[in-house]
Amino acid sequence: MNANSQNMRSICILGSTGSIGLSTLDVIRRHPDRFNVVSLSANSNVELLLEQCTEFLPNEVVMVSEISAKELQQALIKNNLSQINVLSGSSALEHISSASDVDTVMAAIVGASGLMPTLAAVKAGKQVLLANKEALVTSGAIFIEAVKENGAQLLPIDSEHNAIFQCLPLNVQNKPGYCDLKSNGISKILLTGSGGPFRTLDIAKLESVTVEQACAHPNWDMGQKISVDSATMMNKGLEFIEAKWLFNVEPEDIQVVLHPQSTIHSMVQYKDGSVIAQMGNPDMRTPIAHALAFPERIDSGVEPLDFFTTASFDFEAVDYEKYPNLRLAIQACKYGQGACTALNAANEVAVDAFLSKSIKFTDIYKINETSVNKFVSEEVTSINDVIDLDKRVRAFSKTLVNDYLDNEGKETY
Ligand code: NAD
Ligand code: MG
Repeated sequence: MNANSQNMRSICILGSTGSIGLSTLDVIRRHPDRFNVVSLSANSNVELLLEQCTEFLPNEVVMVSEISAKELQQALIKNNLSQINVLSGSSALEHISSASDVDTVMAAIVGASGLMPTLAAVKAGKQVLLANKEALVTSGAIFIEAVKENGAQLLPIDSEHNAIFQCLPLNVQNKPGYCDLKSNGISKILLTGSGGPFRTLDIAKLESVTVEQACAHPNWDMGQKISVDSATMMNKGLEFIEAKWLFNVEPEDIQVVLHPQSTIHSMVQYKDGSVIAQMGNPDMRTPIAHALAFPERIDSGVEPLDFFTTASFDFEAVDYEKYPNLRLAIQACKYGQGACTALNAANEVAVDAFLSKSIKFTDIYKINETSVNKFVSEEVTSINDVIDLDKRVRAFSKTLVNDYLDNEGKETY
């Protein structure tokens, strides 16, 4: 461990300008005696990364965009921070996430772009705090095998998976991805989801919902992609696949439960009838603080849960007619890696197209379904297979988006 003092952890944050990145820095800010920010990365937000450099004084930063990297470098010189090394390009992300002076990597890039830098951290045997669920969805067994082989420590950040992790026995916590839940008395994982902003909306009206409505999650404040995924419940689908890999269970062992208040973040059912739940206000700083300090506990800045103002705990079964993307993801999880890699790639293209107002909300499912059906039987056994399939699915899904544009005209939406 690189350390100024024995307990100091050196942190690399991949995606520091995003919603998870900001929450991570907020927790770190409260504990200057425990955490030292060694490196940060962003896609192109120069202004925010400059602000973060000024406050946290990292050694190295990566801006994926070359133009942004140049801009940042000039701004750092102007601000007397020329000692901070600025790198650009996606391979530089792998360099910072595997650097020898890093103990812990927060993997908070959105989408499959986070896969290679997260995998680089795993291969370097780091402690990896995994927010980037798409990396695991897209590469499943290959990712977990690398965790095992390289002795990396995987700690889930996704609030549901972090909750499940907290409800599991210690010997299972020590082996995410290759533990045996059944022999530890666990009979089921209960994955909760709020149902997003359209839970009570008439199915017929889903076709005409706007980007603004889809991004207005009732309980969580998140990046745009995961907000849309929450509205379609593809997010729960990706989390279903993520849970399969993180906890080494079969799809039959995971049950999705709608819980509109997002107070219970997920549950674990034991064979003696006990159900253990993790609760808290919906604020990602709780799972982030949990993972950063694991196995200790630190202040996260999150208000404690007030049971007297928490109205009620409601639970519902999922209406798969309303959320076909969730059904598709569960099917993909049963089909295998080709289907999951295809699902993730298609969904990224479809959500991008919806966010840029090129397709309707309900077209997201159509693009995802057509893409999964086309690529369902692809063999994916290596990281090169993942990259190759991801590329081909994106190209195919983009042709589907273009078909919508050609047939219906952009202004329709
Ligand atoms: P966000 O859009 O707010 O931030 C994404 C970050 O990734 C930014 O720093 C951005 O600069 C960077 N980035 C974007 N594209 C990139 C690329 N091509 N290459 C390198 N960097 C790139 O996203 P977010 O909401 O913080 O989510 C990040 C990840 O965490 C996602 O995988 C999401 O599913 C997961 N997650 C988020 C939440 C949440 O509450 N926001 C909860 C659970 C899981
Ligand atoms: Mg989640």
